[in-house]
Amino acid sequence: MYDLIIIGGGPAGLTATMYAIRKRLNVLLITKDLGGMTNYHLSLPWAEDYQVIRGLEVVNKFKSELEYLKFARHMDTVEHVEREGEGFAIHTKNSARFEARAIIVATGTRTKRMGVPGEKEFIMRGLCFSALSYAPLFIDKTTAVVGDSDLALRSAAELSTVAKHVTLVGPTQPALDSPMGAKLRRSTNVTIREGYQVVEVQGNGYAERLVVKSPDGAQEVITADGTFVELGLVPNTQMVAGLVELDPEGRVKVDCMARASLPGVFAAGDVTTNYAEQVLIAVGDGAKAALSAYEYLLPSL
Ligand SMILES: Cc1cc2nc3c(=O)[nH]c(=O)nc-3n(C[C@H](O)[C@H](O)[C@H](O)COP(=O)(O)OP(=O)(O)OC[C@H]3O[C@@H](n4cnc5c(N)ncnc54)[C@H](O)[C@@H]3O)c2cc1C
Repeated sequence: MYDLIIIGGGPAGLTATMYAIRKRLNVLLITKDLGGMTNYHLSLPWAEDYQVIRGLEVVNKFKSELEYLKFARHMDTVEHVEREGEGFAIHTKNSARFEARAIIVATGTRTKRMGVPGEKEFIMRGLCFSALSYAPLFIDKTTAVVGDSDLALRSAAELSTVAKHVTLVGPTQPALDSPMGAKLRRSTNVTIREGYQVVEVQGNGYAERLVVKSPDGAQEVITADGTFVELGLVPNTQMVAGLVELDPEGRVKVDCMARASLPGVFAAGDVTTNYAEQVLIAVGDGAKAALSAYEYLLPSL
């Protein structure tokens, strides 16, 4: 039986794994990939070489250490975690089964997609998913944001402070009645296309145009240097649903020591209720979860 199994090898899981190794815990990282969302990098025709992802050096260092330490990782998808005695049994897609006395869930989120022609082709080529990260690259540029979520309104508001123009596609009345919606309605450089849907993304190497459809079916073409798809994030928590408390969106509820509702389960990074999806926050969360798990395990080490 392992002392600790960490599920997910993004910034949070990689940091937690390296901390656990330094504490000499018998640890295993089970993950689909190493690096998680940091493997995405936005390409823009006017910004060839830039650094947006703060903390990437730390993530890459941990990633290469883990690539070397083969015994400490297992590349697979965790499907189900169950309570077993004082510990946990972890079942994977490839029918492997592992046991641990404690686990850290660091499985991140996945972005909701539009599912329209052109989306796949232009992902991370002018078509992006994180205004929180990339807004500073759009000073004086023309942008579009797609979505009706709080995240979409927040993204449009942030972009409006730097971009020349923002078109918000798809918000509905309830979202626009919020304080953020009221701010966007007042902004002189924001155009709101209420209830519109994206039909297609077009471009030449990079996304350049959105074909949208109004609620009464009329089509329009919106030109944008960058489009942010902010339909929301889906936490990857299906493997612990029923085991620990989740919030209404499916994030793992954690306290200030990264503890979930069931003793022995810890969580870190975007998958948790902690505020803001950023690499440096996930790195800090991962360190905290590993130290907290170590303290939990210490009496029996
Ligand atoms: C397009 C995009 C661009 C971004 N750009 C920036 C940026 O410039 N700067 C910044 O600070 N932040 C940026 N972010 C946010 C940042 O990438 C995330 O906040 C950060 O990666 C979260 O780390 P994490 O470890 O919590 O989750 P993730 O990075 O999502 O890692 C989750 C890990 O869990 C694994 N996993 C998931 N499910 C399972 C399973 N069932 N079994 C096994 N493994 C599983 C995944 O394969 C992955 O390795 C960006 C996000 C996106 C989507």
